[in-house]
Amino acid sequence: MNMSLLRLSQQATLFSAFLVFGMSTSHAEVTPSALAVMESQSPIDFRPDSTYFGRLPVLNFSLSSDTPLDVINNGSTEFSTAARANVNPGAGSLTLSGHDWELAQFHFHTPSEHLRDGQANPMEMHLVFSDSNNDLLVVGRWVQAGAFNNDLDPIFSHIPQNTSETLHIDHFNLNTLIPASLESFRYSGSLTTPPFSEGVSWVMLSQPLFMSSEQINAFSSLFPEGDARGIQDLNGRIVLTDVPGFVAAVPEPETYAMMLAGLCLMAFVAGRKNKPLTSDVPAGSVA
Ligand SMILES: [Zn+2]
Repeated sequence: MNMSLLRLSQQATLFSAFLVFGMSTSHAEVTPSALAVMESQSPIDFRPDSTYFGRLPVLNFSLSSDTPLDVINNGSTEFSTAARANVNPGAGSLTLSGHDWELAQFHFHTPSEHLRDGQANPMEMHLVFSDSNNDLLVVGRWVQAGAFNNDLDPIFSHIPQNTSETLHIDHFNLNTLIPASLESFRYSGSLTTPPFSEGVSWVMLSQPLFMSSEQINAFSSLFPEGDARGIQDLNGRIVLTDVPGFVAAVPEPETYAMMLAGLCLMAFVAGRKNKPLTSDVPAGSVA
């Protein structure tokens, strides 16, 4: 295949992916048949052969270094469960491509939900942001076993054991959740808990967070069966990354620019399609 044909083929793939995103549907009542037609689900496995490398819009976090948290255990045996820290309005925000997102809460899953080239991690953190349209953006970060994490100790040393307990923390530095280096994987997906609404923008940070094995065990012992959803099909979606060395092939600049534009547009189109649903599902309810 010559280069112009190859480029045409890539663009055709992009446009078909766009149509799939544009036609995405979501359902408040999640039945197996409803779920079967939802084609932009999360989590996914980030694989080199379906990921494209290039520069990505800068993530501008603005996070309070001293804010209170309310940590709850929104446990349920029927659905996936999570321990969640609710954040006060105004304590954290993210500006991305001129768009403002407000941090509503962060929570943890065990084991990790997203995979990196087939590899899982012991835990995964999700920071859930919403915008003025109630669209959602989730910043994820893998958690690996390492040194004892002093910053997270106030949460994990007293994590609520059941749904009736709330842990109030007076002082927490949200900046300790974010690494200095912000390389990431980005794609358009869904909530990983019911109702699995689509149109969620995902930013999975490459740099892991470290916690001691004891801290990880304290959390995972609450969820012996785990609280991570299984990997979902990519269904032709595009993943973009600025992680050096993850992908071997780098697309031509103009092709990449189209992919980048497509990803932003697709997230917003899907977001609008999901509006009636996501407005029923405030960010605070997302596990
Ligand atoms: Zn989550």
